[in-house]
Amino acid sequence: MKLIIISISILFSTISGFAQNRTISNQTNQNNMTTTANFIFPELPYAYDALEPYIDKMTMEIHYSKHFKAYFDNFLKSISGTELEKSDIKTIFSNISKSPVAVRNNSGGYYNHKLFWESMTPNFKDASGPILDAIVKEFGSMENFKNQFEEAAKTRFGSGWAWLCIDANHKLFISSTPNQDNPLMDVADKKGTPLLTLDVWEHAYYLKYQNRRPEYISSFWHVVNWEMVNKRFLDAIK
Ligand code: MN
Repeated sequence: MKLIIISISILFSTISGFAQNRTISNQTNQNNMTTTANFIFPELPYAYDALEPYIDKMTMEIHYSKHFKAYFDNFLKSISGTELEKSDIKTIFSNISKSPVAVRNNSGGYYNHKLFWESMTPNFKDASGPILDAIVKEFGSMENFKNQFEEAAKTRFGSGWAWLCIDANHKLFISSTPNQDNPLMDVADKKGTPLLTLDVWEHAYYLKYQNRRPEYISSFWHVVNWEMVNKRFLDAIK
């Protein structure tokens, strides 16, 4: 009888030990997931062919599933096992000059493309509301704004991005950055919060437009998600 009781109590402690280990292991997994949940591979908010004819299906598919995915994977690899893994993207950008070049290129590649996908929509509507008022106030007219933005995009030598941003004094400005840099990085010439961006790397347009970057740039206006730009503007001036 005594032996049976001892056996049962050993059995119970073994089971409860298992249960405890399982709980600990689940917590560890959850923590790991929370850490990487900072950086989830974002879904494309529309189908690959949704922005036709302005952005063709094949460009969109390769751009998103190959280029963007590679930036994302290499970004996670570049911060793996470092303090930056627990950080958020804006903090990483604010100290990017102190990070290895792989972090700079791939964190930018991740963030810039995510913002770019979300800057476009198949359901185009003209700009309206506070963002339109702010653009007209700053640039004189929507047409002037578009001309200046196109100029920034056309004259970016080599690969990079054109931006509409808002600075710390809530003033709109246009800029461009080389490679995968962006205006949130401490290395940027003009710093601010991005509201709208255009990728002017050749991989973004070459299959359809070849060397005709200006044609790609003027097509962009047909797919800009002004509701999203307006939302970013309102968040920035809160
Ligand atoms: Mn790109």
